[in-house]
Amino acid sequence: MKEKKFVFHNGVKIPYIGFGTWQIPNKDAYDAVTMALKNGYTHIDTALVYRNEENVGKAIKDSGLSRDSIFVTSKLPAHIKGYDQTLRAFNKTLTNLGMDYLDLYLIHAPWPWNDIGKDCTKENIQTWKAMEQLYNDGKIRAIGVSNFSKEDIQALIDACDIVPMANQIPFYIGRDQKDLLAFCKKNEIVVEAYSPLATGDLLDSPEVMEMAKKYDVTPAQLAIRYCIEKETLPLPKSTHESRIIENSKLDYTISSDDVKKLDTIQDVRKK
Ligand code: NAP
Repeated sequence: MKEKKFVFHNGVKIPYIGFGTWQIPNKDAYDAVTMALKNGYTHIDTALVYRNEENVGKAIKDSGLSRDSIFVTSKLPAHIKGYDQTLRAFNKTLTNLGMDYLDLYLIHAPWPWNDIGKDCTKENIQTWKAMEQLYNDGKIRAIGVSNFSKEDIQALIDACDIVPMANQIPFYIGRDQKDLLAFCKKNEIVVEAYSPLATGDLLDSPEVMEMAKKYDVTPAQLAIRYCIEKETLPLPKSTHESRIIENSKLDYTISSDDVKKLDTIQDVRKK
């Protein structure tokens, strides 16, 4: 797990699997990230709105690992858009993390969470120009987006200089995002698979359980490996050390026939 890396179109490498920290309160984030780093994860995914950047940063600092051996991603809140607003929010993130650069910074969503689907194209373009500035200033090694559709990404490509290096989207067995994945691949955009376990909802799926048995792995390991078979970068989250370890043991492959079978499973997400 540790050695394998995706390469962004600017040459920056990102470890194959990341440790997700959504819904881990700041008070628990220190222990969770410490456990992840102790068990070989070298890529941590956080966001300003997770309100845990302080303890994510502290855990990384206290781990004794060098800053450049850990890949750190954070995100610009979905409701914050515009050039100056982006620069300010980015500085807040760096201060929270206690770091002087980020490995990857993402626009969390193309629209505010309380107005999903709103057309914010103009605002996203201004935001992206600020991200490009931060990138050109050497404050961020790679820049990307999250929850962006093909059209949202195309608007940035048409109006700006840098093609996003990553798009972080919900991706799991039952939600394989075929069209968007193909679009991202065509544009050399790495797809990060968030909620690879469908936030836990996949784990009691009878089809997933049965297929996991065949490979002598757990349902979580099957679900995470599925993302890798699809050439996406999974971001599993757990606060339990045994699961954190389990989720990183992915040294097997799922046959293409079985991937196809998994492709037919309906979205289990309890919305
Ligand atoms: P997930 O990784 O799909 O699933 C996490 C859930 O599954 C938790 O309830 C966890 O419980 C449980 N779990 C984890 N490993 C398990 C195992 N081996 N066996 C049994 N249960 C297990 O969830 P997610 O948090 O939705 O997504 C992962 C990460 O993606 C997030 O943390 C975040 O970094 C990112 N994300 C990004 C966005 C975005 O808009 N960009 C949105 C959602 C998520 P315990 O913690 O109790 O172990």
